[in-house]
Amino acid sequence: MEGRHGRNSTLREVRVSSFPFLDLQAQFAEIREEIRASIERVLDSQAFILGPEVKALEQELRGYLQCRFAIACASGSDAILLALMALDLRPGDEVITTPFTFVATAGSIARLGARPVFADIDPDTFNLDPRRIETIISPRTRAVLPVHLFGLPAEMNAIMKVAAHHNLAVIEDAAQAIGARYNNTPVGNLGTFGCFSFFPSKNLGGAGDGGLITTNDEGQNTRLRILRVHGSRTKYCYEELGINSRLDALQAAILRVKLRYLERWTMARQVNAGRYRNLFQEHNLDELISLPKVPASCNHVFNQFVIRSRSRDQLRQHLADAGIPSEVYYPKPLHLQPAFAWLNHSEGDFPEAEAASREVLALPIFPELKEEQQLAVVEAIARFYRSTA
Ligand SMILES: *Cc1c(COP(=O)(O)O)cnc(C)c1O
Repeated sequence: MEGRHGRNSTLREVRVSSFPFLDLQAQFAEIREEIRASIERVLDSQAFILGPEVKALEQELRGYLQCRFAIACASGSDAILLALMALDLRPGDEVITTPFTFVATAGSIARLGARPVFADIDPDTFNLDPRRIETIISPRTRAVLPVHLFGLPAEMNAIMKVAAHHNLAVIEDAAQAIGARYNNTPVGNLGTFGCFSFFPSKNLGGAGDGGLITTNDEGQNTRLRILRVHGSRTKYCYEELGINSRLDALQAAILRVKLRYLERWTMARQVNAGRYRNLFQEHNLDELISLPKVPASCNHVFNQFVIRSRSRDQLRQHLADAGIPSEVYYPKPLHLQPAFAWLNHSEGDFPEAEAASREVLALPIFPELKEEQQLAVVEAIARFYRSTA
């Protein structure tokens, strides 16, 4: 392959065999034997629900995330739901969150009969803009639910300040941001609760669904452990109604193996992000598209590497034609989704979220991504802008 430097000015097609947006096969190849052994260990034990594997994973994650308590559950969506249940969220209560996120963020609020109250995003970070929170606080507001979108921590100082001033809880949706740090503190450890997901495409992904809630509050730790087993503190005695949301021992065993690799994988994602930056600069594309911005307070773990382009849809088609995978997170903000029509929003209500939905494009950033694959991505984008110039 042609070297990165000294290539001639006519861009020729870089030949790479097609590759996926996220290569979980490559990851598995590296750890196959350890994963197999962990599965076998659980099968031999025939203990499938909670138990020692889940306990050990919770312990290990407490250390990794530097928090006092970690409670595993069945999914990231349930983690948010359980955190909101632990706050005794009632029908009619309001929770302030972002419209530019995965559906579960606001969906968990709505499932409890409460109302998601959206605040627009900061277009530079795609995260909840803390300057827009104060004016929408009402007597029914109970909590703020920022999302560390794509792996970039939200502006937590400003969010915590306004929340403290109005006596609101803060739930961090850290589903995409395990291991990210804000002013050197791991996310999930800044608000009242942190919610994580082990969905396979997250930075720490299981072989199915899984989730985790973190807290530093001992009372809430006890409460969450009751809520995840139907509300029972002692067997067949229900002081309140909870849900069935436990992590499987099989998932825990697999996640314990993968947790040992997480820092390495995260660093690889960050190296890839840096390499994209250099390549975009070398190809003079950094003026035509906008690259992820990382505030000095933040350590970004790049669950996604998301660029913005005014001609996103054409660019995406061009990439697809060239065999380059890409994704759009998210094509429609939540306030315009039919499931939230009852909130009576219309187009124009959150212009930054709407613009982001039109312009964002996620490029492959998985740890095993190769340098020549990144070059192929960037050169395909360069060809697109040459053809439209
Ligand atoms: C993945 C995700 C969730 C939900 O996690 P699941 O484990 O899939 O239920 C919630 N919020 C955000 C921002 C996510 O990306």
